[in-house]
Amino acid sequence: RKIVQIAGINIDDISMEQAVDRVYEFIGSDQNHSIFTPNAEIMMDGITNKDIKAMLNGADMLVADGAGVVLASKIIGKAVTEKVSGVDLVKNLLTASSKRPIKFYLFGGKPGIPEKANANIICDYPGAEVVGTRNGYFSKEDETSIIDDINNSGAEVLLVCLGAPKQEEWITENKDRLKVKACIGVGGTMDILAG
Ligand code: UDP
Repeated sequence: RKIVQIAGINIDDISMEQAVDRVYEFIGSDQNHSIFTPNAEIMMDGITNKDIKAMLNGADMLVADGAGVVLASKIIGKAVTEKVSGVDLVKNLLTASSKRPIKFYLFGGKPGIPEKANANIICDYPGAEVVGTRNGYFSKEDETSIIDDINNSGAEVLLVCLGAPKQEEWITENKDRLKVKACIGVGGTMDILAG
């Protein structure tokens, strides 16, 4: 990994194309990986809160979501290659999956929203395959059935849209129970896909 450190947070210095390739490497491996896409606000939380910093640094891939993060990297004289936002990474993966298939599971957003996102994906990305959906409003007792559903779906890439830092915490806590190959924390992306 080529890393740019911003105030102790290890951001991957990669282009969008390289980020997509890394996800395919994860899919080809035999274990789960976490991908976080912090914006400037979450970066600030990570800088001031050591637990959030440790959680961000625990990711297998950490990409610069916002222009602010890219700017910060420039100010400290260690510019990252380019902005790799969560929503753009997801869109690029959906596009790439028509040639190199990926099984996606959509988790998060208000009831009905991941289903709406799936309907839009079917129209906009005809080659993409969504194998399951679940809204992001649940209690602790629902978690086992949610994880079972994800594991039984055969999904390879799990999009987790619970808002930050909830999604990062959820992925960190459940990474080893999930049979997927990559979990991507992508905040408001479900609403954008459903929009
Ligand atoms: N969300 C969710 N479960 C929750 C909280 C939020 O599924 O318990 C969803 C919410 O519906 C929205 C997304 O997470 O689709 C992002 O939420 P928010 O805008 O609060 O987070 P941020 O964009 O600030 O990370």
